[in-house]
Amino acid sequence: MSSLRKITQLVQGKNTSDGAGVKLKRVIAGEELNQLDPFLLLDEFKNDNPDDYAAGFPDHPHRGFETITYLLSGSFTHRDSHGNEGHLKAGAIQWMTAGKGVIHSEMPEQTDGLALGYQLWLNLPAKLKMTEPKYQDIASEQLPVVEKDGVKAKILSGIYNGTKSPAESFIPFDYFDLHLAPGAVFTQAVPEDRNAFIYVIDGKAKTGSADEPTYVKPDYLGVFGPGDSVKVQAEGDKPLHLLFASAQKLNEPVVRGGPFVMNTMGELKQAFYDYQIGNLG
Ligand code: MN
Repeated sequence: MSSLRKITQLVQGKNTSDGAGVKLKRVIAGEELNQLDPFLLLDEFKNDNPDDYAAGFPDHPHRGFETITYLLSGSFTHRDSHGNEGHLKAGAIQWMTAGKGVIHSEMPEQTDGLALGYQLWLNLPAKLKMTEPKYQDIASEQLPVVEKDGVKAKILSGIYNGTKSPAESFIPFDYFDLHLAPGAVFTQAVPEDRNAFIYVIDGKAKTGSADEPTYVKPDYLGVFGPGDSVKVQAEGDKPLHLLFASAQKLNEPVVRGGPFVMNTMGELKQAFYDYQIGNLG
């Protein structure tokens, strides 16, 4: 007997700025929703004024988790302290396993037009926090797209309808970019040991059962409560564009400070110390 997950929390992103003054909307990691194990942060970048994004994110460190950047419009260059370099184009993802530490920059290549993208931070299990740093740069055309019954799913991570993303995750993790035709229904199994959310980009989402639906508007994140599957329908006569994510909970202590996310205060202090003495990345 399957049990449909209900939305238990609606979170609106808060306007803030980060890096060298890039305007963004912080959806996870703010006061309303500090984290959703194992999701540590979700930022939306949606700017058509270059003054709001051109300064980018100059050199900064990370340790203890992964960042998954998904670009829908625009392009940026990534460079790190190990000499790695990547160029992210629209429709592509960059998956960075920071592990024991990287110092990197994320800078827009464009000087005009719309920059639209999402950065999600995925926690690493305690035993992998100090793993070697790793990158997966996956171009748009390498990411499978499945179209069925009015649902078009781009599979950034995990498996949808038997089709698997080329991205490799340490923990079970589904992450899809979904376009639903008006009235179309997306369903996905989400085992009990996972957390899951949707973030609506455009249109209106109807979730849950027909007798007890919850609606999610654009720029809102909906957190799913317990259950083993989710159902999302494009409400009304408009198409729906959204992100869906589910991942296995780690159930481990989280001690975070800025760009470092560890399990204990001692490990966090060590991260700041290693960065200060030039021993990180
Ligand atoms: Mn970064």
